[in-house]
Amino acid sequence: MNRIRASIITIGDELLIGQTVDTNSAWMGTHLNDAGIWVQRRVAVGDDRQAILSALDEESAKSKVVLITGGLGPTADDITKPVLLEYFGGRMVQDEDTYTRVMALFESRGLPVLERNVAQAMVPDSCTVLPNLRGTAPGMWFEKNDCIFVSMPGVPHEMKGLMENAVIPRLQERFETPALLHHTLITSGMGESFVAERIRDFEAALPKHIKLAYLPSYGLLKLRLTTEAPDKITAAAEMKDAFQTLRSLVADILVAEADLPMGVILGNVLLEKGKTVGTAESCTGGRIASQITAVAGSSRYFKGSVVSYANETKINLLRVNPNTLLQHGAVSEQTVREMAEGALETLKVDCVMAVSGIMGPDGGTDEKPVGSVWIAVGGKGDIRTMLYRFRYDRPRNTEMTVVAAMNELRKWLEG
Ligand code: ATP
Repeated sequence: MNRIRASIITIGDELLIGQTVDTNSAWMGTHLNDAGIWVQRRVAVGDDRQAILSALDEESAKSKVVLITGGLGPTADDITKPVLLEYFGGRMVQDEDTYTRVMALFESRGLPVLERNVAQAMVPDSCTVLPNLRGTAPGMWFEKNDCIFVSMPGVPHEMKGLMENAVIPRLQERFETPALLHHTLITSGMGESFVAERIRDFEAALPKHIKLAYLPSYGLLKLRLTTEAPDKITAAAEMKDAFQTLRSLVADILVAEADLPMGVILGNVLLEKGKTVGTAESCTGGRIASQITAVAGSSRYFKGSVVSYANETKINLLRVNPNTLLQHGAVSEQTVREMAEGALETLKVDCVMAVSGIMGPDGGTDEKPVGSVWIAVGGKGDIRTMLYRFRYDRPRNTEMTVVAAMNELRKWLEG
């Protein structure tokens, strides 16, 4: 079965200067892929007539489907619509449906309707209008030279609504798409190259249509299998066999059998073991607690956190001995152990994570360079401590500490 290949063109000067990060393409890539459509190119261009025209030409020469976001707004810098009119021909007409929606929207908000808002309902008559139920600028579907072009607003929430309600269903109606299936597992504690060595024979024996990807992420390694088959049942059967073999090869370093955030993985283990948890956080400033509470239903196991950034807070709220801090310093095995013991008492929980480290850029010494982090995990009478040495900048060191602490507690819980 032939792959349907797509290109994404994102439009806006703000994307080129980095003021806005292009999250639209990532979202579209994932959802098109799930629908069996292969994004082969992504291009970002500024609000510039010639750049947009060239991108339309170049991408339609390579792809069957060209999806465009951005530049449809009511302000002068939004030039996508006149450029599309120039490219596809026709004349501007008012789309009654959109006009009614714009008027109703402004009326419901008690705002006057400006001429530039009414202009949102003007579209080239060379397109099929796709209603935007979440905003004012509609989607526009054009066809030219055996290629489908769809223009959507740049606002992520509006683009997503259009993609889910109109664009993907229409593309699936138009094309016979293969079933693409991904299955990811997460490992920890072994570097990418060592894992690759271990599963070398498995990888070499995979049939051509099953692909394996290595995705290192914050101290974890994700292994993603992708299979492509004419239908979902065949794809699922093929995936099951390959995934089971891969799973058995990495059983001793397995963290999860799906691509889940660490907060979900740890939460599931806590639920399974029936344990409550709390955190004592110095260098992570509450980020571990934040990841735990990002999971709906975490109140069933999460009790709270002591963000003990200053030494006096470690002493006052966690009962860390001032002499421990004097003798060993805040970033030390003894201190995190006492922080963990203090948190068990203060928060009245079954298990805890305590972290104290030097995130950088300053504060490192020869003995404790930037990136040194002591972590303690465990429960009453059974605290496990470990030293991590990260080598990155402050945000990345912090993120890696969060993941490492949660993963260490997961390991402790699983014995
Ligand atoms: P509207 O008609 O609602 O104004 P628009 O088509 O004019 O939408 P833009 O003006 O280009 O869209 O962008 C609107 C908002 O969406 C801005 O906040 C912008 O930063 C954001 N945005 C635009 N493109 C992207 C993208 N590729 N990824 C993430 N956000 C984006």
